[in-house]
Amino acid sequence: MRFVLLGPPGAGKGTHARIMSEKWKVPQLATGDILRRHIREQTDLGKRAKAILDRGELAPDTLVNELMKDQLAKPEAKNGFILDGYPRTIGQAESLEAFLKSRNEKLDVALYFKTSPEVIVDRLSGRRSCPKCGANYHVRNIRPKVEGKCDVCNADLVQRSDDRPETVQHRLEVYEKDTAPLLNYYRKSGLLKEIPGDLNVPELQKELSNVLAGK
Ligand code: AMP
Repeated sequence: MRFVLLGPPGAGKGTHARIMSEKWKVPQLATGDILRRHIREQTDLGKRAKAILDRGELAPDTLVNELMKDQLAKPEAKNGFILDGYPRTIGQAESLEAFLKSRNEKLDVALYFKTSPEVIVDRLSGRRSCPKCGANYHVRNIRPKVEGKCDVCNADLVQRSDDRPETVQHRLEVYEKDTAPLLNYYRKSGLLKEIPGDLNVPELQKELSNVLAGK
């Protein structure tokens, strides 16, 4: 299966992408995680990306498209993938479509996590992330087994710098302007399926199973 996950920051894309990746045995390809890894490792790309992420802006299409083509061309992605945070602009969606077409592949579904503003703000302000593996937690709703430590790699959990309230506001504006138009793009191509993003993790997984039954 080839999935695209759509929805504002805080909609739960990353959390559900991880669960779905295990279930469907396909890799989760998260542009934000890849960019943060470059920042951590202080690569040239990471140095360029840091200021952009800290401001809550989008990285340039050309850069992100090349990064994701490399990921999509890997053997692990041959039989499917979950795109989490890509595409985020119409230009990226067109690039993805052209790339898949050149390989005789196509998307199966674009899942839109429709989420209300209050839920987004609560999730982002309470989100804690693992700087090593990117797993997400929440101070109330998704608590790690050991307070402040990642369940997977035991690293100290942190609040992402772009989850600060002033940056969150800007990320939401950028989402509305650049990313929300993708909903119509995928609606027109018949791929869009709407998911109630306000649900908690087990409820939403159940809903996903229903929506994807028969796929
Ligand atoms: P995320 O982890 O998906 O919330 O992404 C964190 C940040 O990485 C975003 O606010 C952008 O600065 C950058 N980013 C992630 N995905 C993309 C993308 N597809 N296009 C451009 N920038 C991106």
